[in-house]
Amino acid sequence: MKAALALALLLLVPTSDRAAAATNDAEHYLDAFVDRSADPRADFFRFAVGKWLNDHPIPATERRWGIAQAVQDDTYARLLRINEEAAAGHAADGSNARKIGDFWRAAMDADAVAAQALHPLDDEFARIDAVASRDQLMAEIARLQRMGANALCNLYIFQDEKHSDRTSLHLYQGGLGLPNRDHYLDNDARATALREAYVEHVARILELLGAARAVARRDAERVMAIETELARASRKLEALRDPEANYNVLEVGELGDLAPAIAWRDYFAAGGLPPLETVVVGQPEFFVQAGKSLQERPIAEWQAYLRWHLAHAYAAQGGGAFEAENFRFFGTVLTGTPEQRPRWKRMLDEEEKVLGDALGQLYVAAHFPPAAKARYEKLADDVVEAFRARLGKLEWMSEPTRRRALVKLDALKKKVGYPDKWKDYAGYDVTPRSFLENVKRGRIWQTDYDIAKLGKPVDRLEWEMTPQTYNAYYMAPNNEIVLPAAAFILPGIDDTEVDDAIVYGYAGGTTIGHEITHGFDDEGRQFDEHGNLASWWAEADDVEFKRRARVVVEQYGSTVAVGELRVNGEATQGENIADLGGIVIAWDAFTKTAQYREGKPIGGFIPAQRFYIGWALGWMMQVRPEALELQVKTDYHSPSFVRVNGPVSNQPEFHDAFGVRPGDRMYRSMSERAKVW
Ligand SMILES: [Zn+2]
Repeated sequence: MKAALALALLLLVPTSDRAAAATNDAEHYLDAFVDRSADPRADFFRFAVGKWLNDHPIPATERRWGIAQAVQDDTYARLLRINEEAAAGHAADGSNARKIGDFWRAAMDADAVAAQALHPLDDEFARIDAVASRDQLMAEIARLQRMGANALCNLYIFQDEKHSDRTSLHLYQGGLGLPNRDHYLDNDARATALREAYVEHVARILELLGAARAVARRDAERVMAIETELARASRKLEALRDPEANYNVLEVGELGDLAPAIAWRDYFAAGGLPPLETVVVGQPEFFVQAGKSLQERPIAEWQAYLRWHLAHAYAAQGGGAFEAENFRFFGTVLTGTPEQRPRWKRMLDEEEKVLGDALGQLYVAAHFPPAAKARYEKLADDVVEAFRARLGKLEWMSEPTRRRALVKLDALKKKVGYPDKWKDYAGYDVTPRSFLENVKRGRIWQTDYDIAKLGKPVDRLEWEMTPQTYNAYYMAPNNEIVLPAAAFILPGIDDTEVDDAIVYGYAGGTTIGHEITHGFDDEGRQFDEHGNLASWWAEADDVEFKRRARVVVEQYGSTVAVGELRVNGEATQGENIADLGGIVIAWDAFTKTAQYREGKPIGGFIPAQRFYIGWALGWMMQVRPEALELQVKTDYHSPSFVRVNGPVSNQPEFHDAFGVRPGDRMYRSMSERAKVW
């Protein structure tokens, strides 16, 4: 329960009673985390959570292990109970409980799943084989995209960045089988080996579909050639953080200028889209290349590509040999994980994607009382107040920009716990007989659900995460922070064990602060209080923000993540700025507590020290080297040890708390320190 203990830290709203109770118990839990033999001035991360990490090596079934997984494990146990009860019960036809029960029974019958393999998709493969023209090819691509396959490009329906009250179709780069364009283009030994392994993986999947070995190898090379062309035309991770550059409105008639080979209106219709006037094109140059590749390459090559992408989209759900081969490459080769996770956990993940809100309703009813919701709403308000005070005295910001920033902060909306309105799954037909069929229907249902939003007013009550998710987010078009219920779970832990300093340093303060400042990071600050992409910064402030952000980019960009690989300072700057903001806002809020003022040590640590230990608990995580490399190439978040040591090394209060001095590895001189907020 040591892991579970830490998640209690999220829950607590501090009171002086709790702080008093904590005095007796604090040694007991901090000792499970802190490695007192490590030097906080040399590597604070090791010091603060090294004991726990040593005691909890990464299980063979995991690519990483830490606080988030420990919390997730607890959520899994709760969801398992919900599913087993639903499967054993006799809920009414069409009810959510019945859908959950049927989904679960079909998913857990591993023998039936393996026997069906990808056969529920036979008709789709036959359609691919029958493609005889480029128009048919595009129609087939549209069908596969609707089923969730990443064929050629991405289509998604989302709020329009410059008109947040309406919904637009977005065309985005995509079509790759490896996680990032860099995997196709990097020339180091690891990338080269990964590409070879990938081609072999594609070949093996095609063989499982029935192709002869030589044909499968040849087709896998064709897939690689097409994807490499698409990768070359794709923007880098960091470039995708520029919302202006990703916003190119075109009339549907103009799309022909980008890619004349595509009959765009027919293509949209084949995907079930209504007639459209305009679309937002994320990366026009990508679609120029996609159109050229479609035109120049023989249809037979595209058929191989589509067979692969359809199989790839469903291999993890195909059971037996498909599932094993999919894990061999994407689990073991790509992330270094030796063993598959138990089936029941993987099936919960699958169910989460297609019935997440139905699960969420039952989850919240059982595990998230109204008092918890009220408590966290209050804490969110307090952290907003702390940021308001900080904005009010920020020395580098001019008055006009400050006024606009405060207007945006005033307009910020908070969603806590669970949505006011749940998704209605009436149209999603779940069968107890085929897991793969349920996954396919669920994906089509989701696509159609999004398509139905086109032309209607935006529903701002919607959530992008389910309540049982251990995470949180800021969403620019709604200018809102969203904090799911699972952030507050308390698995059998008495919350009196945890004191204010840890609450503020861990998630209570810093996570909320982090999400709020996303509205003001390099990307979020480009959106106004209505959620529209519109400049509101005075020029001098804009220059000063960028100068300060540059310090962050360079600081993180010079940090080694794994082996020779450094953190991508550009791509991670938004998250890093939010971390730096979250920690200072939470600190401000913490200094208002009685516990801070009294300054009593608990477990041998003064309040300021415990605050920073709390911060480290939030990012307590160890990751396999392969998975860490993948993270650096695909994730906008820095590695967890960087997320701990980076922000604290910029805080004067941290230097004071642990006596960090020139010459210490954690030391940063005043002139080197990053400070945005
Ligand atoms: Zn973030």
